[in-house]
Amino acid sequence: MSDRDSLAEYRRKRDFERTAEPEGKIAAGKIAAAKPARSKSPALAFVIQKHRASHLHFDLRLELDGVMKSWAVPKGPSVDPAVKRLAMEVEDHPIEYNSFEGTIPSGEYGGGTVMLWERGTYGYGGDGPDPMEGLHRGYAKGDFKIVLQGERLKGSWVLVRTRRDSRGKAQWLLIKHRDEHAREGADVVAEYETSVTTGRTMDEIAGGAKPKKQARPTARKAVKPVVKKAVETAVKKASKKPAPKKRT
Ligand code: MN
Repeated sequence: MSDRDSLAEYRRKRDFERTAEPEGKIAAGKIAAAKPARSKSPALAFVIQKHRASHLHFDLRLELDGVMKSWAVPKGPSVDPAVKRLAMEVEDHPIEYNSFEGTIPSGEYGGGTVMLWERGTYGYGGDGPDPMEGLHRGYAKGDFKIVLQGERLKGSWVLVRTRRDSRGKAQWLLIKHRDEHAREGADVVAEYETSVTTGRTMDEIAGGAKPKKQARPTARKAVKPVVKKAVETAVKKASKKPAPKKRT
């Protein structure tokens, strides 16, 4: 599957006349091409959305190649290294999905309530010389080592692919590595029951309550995906064409 159609499944499942979820207008292939092949310290976007649909689950999304690689994690992440959490890989989502919080109409795909539970940046957690190559190789191999720099989750983690189901969908395990951010016995999902951006509970989001707090500027800066920079650069380049002369 080329980068360009990696959002085809995402779009096919949704009726954008009915859901407020983003269609993802940025062509992934173009973004991937705009990014440098090598990057010394990639700061890629990551988010976790708490999603109350037919079943409550958490959606982990990690930016790679201009899209958000996505996993549905039924129990959410655990900061206890002894706890392995099942993570079912789902279709790639557009980068724009990272700011989506709200409701999806019932009857539509994923109908229910979506909370932005965590956000930040992530990078390569392995010891290969080239971080981007390390991320690509790790994802392909099913041994995806990452370092999260979020507001609630930090430090080293791994996603280990265990098997594929009959439809070719991959099952992974999300595991916290032992480091200074690991906490034995802690239940991070229970510790944080509100949106990381609006401070709202699931019920408040479902009821359309107003945001309780402003997004902190530092957090906004931290979550800025590298892909956005690529877009800005592309836009700047495009706008370098001489502007038509003003008529007065
Ligand atoms: Mn979901």
